[in-house]
Amino acid sequence: MNNDTSEKAAPHVLPFLPYADNALDPVISANTIGFHYGKHHKGYVENLNKLVAGTEFANLTLEQIIAQTAGKADKSAIFNNAAQTWNHTFYWHSLKPKGGGEPPAVLKKKIEISFGTLDACKKELATAAMAQFGSGWVWLVLNGDTLEVTKTANAEVPMTAGLKPLLTIDVWEHAYYLDYQNRRADYVSAILDKLINWEFALQNAS
Ligand code: MN
Repeated sequence: MNNDTSEKAAPHVLPFLPYADNALDPVISANTIGFHYGKHHKGYVENLNKLVAGTEFANLTLEQIIAQTAGKADKSAIFNNAAQTWNHTFYWHSLKPKGGGEPPAVLKKKIEISFGTLDACKKELATAAMAQFGSGWVWLVLNGDTLEVTKTANAEVPMTAGLKPLLTIDVWEHAYYLDYQNRRADYVSAILDKLINWEFALQNAS
């Protein structure tokens, strides 16, 4: 992750939102941001700090905690809160006011090599979002030199599968229910057209 979103060891802090809480309106309302960032994301950070206090994980960075607890059933609470802390910071940076539109030329070229067209890439992201049963995340990732779309359940992250995340869309119901109720497809489509931060994806790809 780039410097804007890098994390230090405990106590972990809730990073500042990269924009005002009403800056994504009307696609994502300030009301949704208030709960999603102010309650959910904040809660994961607070839970993580409580869980790692006095443990072998107390002096590790977020990325180190995620790597060392992934797939370990007895560490699932720490993993879930660490990964959700990381995922949400990455998600806020994956969006921006007046996003969407055309990716930077270098990224667009990579997208066309991997997916054929930008529309095909966006369609694959939207399809993955609908195919994710229950809570989870949809990702644009680098698999070696190839761009791919993948999805993860609950708090899972692509890094544990050797994939490099470029951007993500949160498809937990708390991400869209206040604004879209059950219409996940409309939420994802609006993000892809109006908020997705292709510059952030390009930063992560290089
Ligand atoms: Mn969320």
